[in-house]
Amino acid sequence: MTNVEHSSRIYLDHAATTPVASEVFRAMEPYFCTRFGNPSSSHSFGKEAKNAVEQSRGAVAALIGAKPSEIVFTSSATESNNTVLKGVVASLRGRGNHILTTQIEHRSVLDTCAFLERDGVKITCLQVDSHGRVDPADVQRAITPKTILISVMHANNEIGTIQPIAEIGRIGREFGVPVHTDAVQTFGHLPVMVDELEVDYLSASAHKLYGPKGVGMLYVRSGGRIQPLLHGGAQENGLRSATLNVSGIVGFGAAVRLARESMLEEIVLLTRLRLRLIEGLSNAIKKSFLNGHPVHRLPGNVHMSFPNAEGELMLRELDEEGIACSTGSACSASSSGPSHVLTALRVPHSHIAGSLRITPGRMTTEGEIDRLISVLPVIVRKVRALQEFD
Ligand SMILES: *Cc1c(COP(=O)(O)O)cnc(C)c1O
Repeated sequence: MTNVEHSSRIYLDHAATTPVASEVFRAMEPYFCTRFGNPSSSHSFGKEAKNAVEQSRGAVAALIGAKPSEIVFTSSATESNNTVLKGVVASLRGRGNHILTTQIEHRSVLDTCAFLERDGVKITCLQVDSHGRVDPADVQRAITPKTILISVMHANNEIGTIQPIAEIGRIGREFGVPVHTDAVQTFGHLPVMVDELEVDYLSASAHKLYGPKGVGMLYVRSGGRIQPLLHGGAQENGLRSATLNVSGIVGFGAAVRLARESMLEEIVLLTRLRLRLIEGLSNAIKKSFLNGHPVHRLPGNVHMSFPNAEGELMLRELDEEGIACSTGSACSASSSGPSHVLTALRVPHSHIAGSLRITPGRMTTEGEIDRLISVLPVIVRKVRALQEFD
């Protein structure tokens, strides 16, 4: 192809992962071959690495209003979620065995809960409304004297719905039950302050905010009682043994500093692109529906259903045009079957099958959005026509 516009690919799947920002990459580079020390070593190489790690810890803590000592670096948000669920159970089993969560959590929470359930832990998965919001009153009603943890995500990765975490945090505090939130989709994208949300645990991941893959963090409020997942050298206050991923953590810190600087600008940009997408696609495609909440929603999340247009077919056609979107979560791309999130919203089956998630990012242009708005209606018509012969 000779047309430049057609040969340059368009990435609209930032909820799955983001590119590493060039500033982040530059910050990480020295920590591979030059400043390669083990932060646990007491010589100058070790100290240099340790300093860099502590700088990042300070930046991450400052972003959410936490103390540096409350930040535990992990390999991923998946690990953070596993750590908090399994670690609280291991620590508080004497007090109770009940965990409260919702039907639309990330698989790393729901599958960990299923694992714990086979081990005798009682799990309550609260229903959400048709926009994907959990009612704090339902949370309060479901608390029992045996409840040891409430885990509700801050924003959903598929449909973008933002949960009333501050209200849930207040209820947890009132009933003396620790509250965890998976804030992967909001950390670095929206203001997230642990004291305003009144949460005791919070998970985040660097690769969702222009940092490297394979680095995450768990915020553990001072005094939080939790057992580690990994035992060994007792790094991270004994909460996560293993030699630290120094370059990754440096990248995480750099990504957080960038996010802090550009957050407001990014919210404005992504909100504008989202509204443009929703309006453009709704006008151009007959029978199109927005999933998730119209207002309590991530600035950069568009999730729509086009009934009678198979999602996977739309994705393939878009990919051929050089446009990358998703049907929902990156995880459900490999494990087929309808999305547990859309199922929980009680969206009709034809809507689930024909759904598309479009998540622009910091570098997305209006031109790219307009290209999708011009290409997708043609694709939907084509896919719908194909399916009529089935
Ligand atoms: C991406 C994501 C995760 C998993 O993060 P990893 O660091 O890739 O393990 C967990 N929760 C939510 C909401 C996510 O979007």
